[in-house]
Amino acid sequence: MWQGIRGHDDIVEAFRRSLQCGRLASTYLFVGPEGVGKRSFARQLAAALLCTETPDEQLASCGQCESCRLFAAGNHPDLDELARPAGKRSLPIELFVGDRDHRNQVGLCHNIALRPLLGRRRAAIIDDADWLTVESANSLLKTLEEPPPGALIVLVGTSRSRQLPTILSRAQIVRFGPLAREDVVEIALEQGTTADREAAVRLAELAGGSLQAARELADPELGTMRDRFVAHLAGERFDLPRVCNELAEFVNSAGKEAEAKRARLRRFFALAVDSWRVDLRGRLADGAAVEFALAAMDRTLTAAEQLDRNANQSTLLECWIADLARLR
Ligand SMILES: [Zn+2]
Repeated sequence: MWQGIRGHDDIVEAFRRSLQCGRLASTYLFVGPEGVGKRSFARQLAAALLCTETPDEQLASCGQCESCRLFAAGNHPDLDELARPAGKRSLPIELFVGDRDHRNQVGLCHNIALRPLLGRRRAAIIDDADWLTVESANSLLKTLEEPPPGALIVLVGTSRSRQLPTILSRAQIVRFGPLAREDVVEIALEQGTTADREAAVRLAELAGGSLQAARELADPELGTMRDRFVAHLAGERFDLPRVCNELAEFVNSAGKEAEAKRARLRRFFALAVDSWRVDLRGRLADGAAVEFALAAMDRTLTAAEQLDRNANQSTLLECWIADLARLR
């Protein structure tokens, strides 16, 4: 394990090789699914390259020097960390070059050009890079084109297609894959997502290599709602409007943003499919139950696909539940 990071050993090796040949780029763009540890990796990379005790090519932080202590305390003077402000739909230009009254006097582009206070370089991590505006990306251009000597800038996004050409052409792209199932199990246990190994294994099976998905799937409210829903559906009387309302309310309470609601519904679908899958295993002898579970899973997977294609959420939900009710 490198610096407490599980998985991604190939990326660690690639960085080590670049450093050994003295070919560290100044700007990297990390892409890959949510929740696989890109931001943690970026932070450990910065910590290692800011550490004043270990040489760069070791790609390690000592954990003892002043730089490492300030890093751990979250106030390293040579590190800037930016992310989308809560409730904002983008990374505003002010984070890069300051507001109108302080243009070029504060912000990432100003800070990264300052002389490092502790070590050999300054570093910046730009999280949520999918949300850079054209204006913000343009404000970064000069910094990316003429980076201060030794400076390290890491942008953390999800996919290449969500980045602006101005960034793509100036950054070295590093692709992160999903985490291995065993890694998700270990991290979920370490971070207390669940205390039970068997539960961690189930979460990892459903999470598709994303720790964020595992965390969301572990939400007890989601589990409770799924159990209620499945029980309703299996019951004698099925109150379609009531179930629809209840589920829509639950999904909508995930947050204001459409993406948060979609994420919750996506997890709900995954848990519903899982529940029928478990049910199937237990009732292989009961033909009708097997048939229902298969049809329900099939219909739910279609709904999940429609969700990913940005179908209207309330129509999608209503049609899905109505179809499930018809199938029972
Ligand atoms: Zn150190």
